[in-house]
Amino acid sequence: MDLRYGAEHEQFRVVVRDFLARCWTKGGDAAEFRQKAVAAGYLYRGIPKRFGGSEQPSEILKARIITEEFARARAPMEVKGNGVQMLVPTLLECGEEWQKEQFVPKTLTGEYRWAQGFSEPGAGSDLASLRTRAELRSGQWVINGQKVWTSYAKQCRYMFALVRTEPAAPKHEGISYLLIDLDQPGIDIRPMKQINGGIDFNEVFFTDATTPEHWIVGRRGEGWKISKSLLKHERNMLGGIDRSDAMFESLLKLAQRSTIEGECAIKVPWVRDRLAALKAELEVQRYSSMIQLSRELNGEGGGVLQMMNKLVQSNFAAAVAELSNAIIGDESLISPIGNEKPGNERWVNQYMNSLAAAIAGGTSNIQRNIIAERGLGLPREGEKA
Ligand SMILES: Cc1cc2nc3c(=O)[nH]c(=O)nc-3n(C[C@H](O)[C@H](O)[C@H](O)COP(=O)(O)OP(=O)(O)OC[C@H]3O[C@@H](n4cnc5c(N)ncnc54)[C@H](O)[C@@H]3O)c2cc1C
Repeated sequence: MDLRYGAEHEQFRVVVRDFLARCWTKGGDAAEFRQKAVAAGYLYRGIPKRFGGSEQPSEILKARIITEEFARARAPMEVKGNGVQMLVPTLLECGEEWQKEQFVPKTLTGEYRWAQGFSEPGAGSDLASLRTRAELRSGQWVINGQKVWTSYAKQCRYMFALVRTEPAAPKHEGISYLLIDLDQPGIDIRPMKQINGGIDFNEVFFTDATTPEHWIVGRRGEGWKISKSLLKHERNMLGGIDRSDAMFESLLKLAQRSTIEGECAIKVPWVRDRLAALKAELEVQRYSSMIQLSRELNGEGGGVLQMMNKLVQSNFAAAVAELSNAIIGDESLISPIGNEKPGNERWVNQYMNSLAAAIAGGTSNIQRNIIAERGLGLPREGEKA
C-alpha cells in the first residue's frame, strides 16, 4: 500500500505552507486571517461564496492537507461550535434561501453563536419523547417547556431547537425544528455548576416564548428527519485521529516529566505497558481513518468504520485520561479547582471531560446500538434474530 499523497498533492502542500508562512503569525488576529484563508480557498470549502464560504470543489485529499498544514502551523481553522458545525450544514441542506442568507455568513465569522436545544429532562437518548411544545398563534410560534444540558446557552444569542408542534401525530412525526432568539423575556437560562467547577451547561425554561412562524427549518413535523442529518454532522465532528495523536503526545510528555516513587514515569514498567497498548490502539485508529479516506475517495461512504469513530475516540480519550491520573497519583484526587501542581489541573479536567464525552452527542451505549443494528445488521432491540 502506497500511503504517499502523490506529486500533485505534495505541490499543493507547498502552496499551503507558503500561504501560512506569509499570512499567519502565532498570536495574530484570527478573524483577519480567516478572511484571507477563505479568499485563498482554504476554509469553508463546501460553502457557497454568497454565504461567506470559499466554494471549492470537493477534494478530500486537499482538504486533508489543509487540515494537516494548518495544525502544523497552529493557524486557526473554521470557527468551532454548534453554529458552524451543526446548524450551517443543516441550513445548507434543508433551509430556506432567506434563512441561509440571514444566518450563515454571520455564523461563519462567529458573530452569531447558537445553542443546541434538544435534550430535555425526560428525553435524552430517547429524544423523540421530547415535550417542549410550540403552538402557532397569530403568525408566531408560542413555546412552552424546558430544555436541559444546553451547552453555552448563556453565551449564545440564538438556539436551534426541537419542539413538539403536532401533539396528535406519532411521536417521531410531531416534532419541528425551530430557530429561536434567546434574548427575550419568555426565556430563562439557568446555569448548572459542574463537578469541575465550570458552568458550561444550562437549563433553559420557555414560558410563552415566541419565534416568527417562518423561523422553522423544513416543514411542520419534519424536525426529526432534519435532526438526524444534524446528528450525523455532530458525530463526524467528534471523531478524528488528529485529536488522538495530540492527546497521546501530551500523555508521553506527562510521563517524561513525572516521577513515580523516585523514578521517571516513562521508565516504570506498568506505565510503559499501558503506553504501548495505547500506541497500538492509536495506530489502529490511524489505519481505520486511512481506510475511511480511501472509501470516501472511491465514493463508497465511511460505512461501519465511520459509525465507530465516536465510540473509539471517546474510549481512547478515557483510557488516556485514566493513565494520566495513575501517573499523577494522589494529586488526581484533588478537584481541578485548587489543584496546585501546575499542569496537573489540565489532566484532572481531561479525565472529567472524558466522562462527559462518552455521553455528549449520543452515549456510548447508543453508539453500540447504532453499530450493531445499522452497521452490522444485527436484530433491533426486542426483535427476533
Ligand atoms: C458535555 C455534554 C454536552 C451536552 N450538550 C448538549 C447541548 O448543547 N444540547 C442538548 O440538547 N443536549 C446536550 N447534552 C445532552 C446529551 O445529548 C444527553 O445527555 C445524551 O443524549 C444522553 O441523554 P440523557 O442524559 O438523558 O441520558 P439517558 O438517555 O437517560 O441515558 C442514561 C443511560 O442509559 C443508557 N441508555 C439509554 N437508552 C438506551 C438504549 N436504548 N440502549 C442501551 N442503553 C441505553 C445510556 O447509554 C446511558 O448510559 C450534552 C451532554 C453532555 C455530557
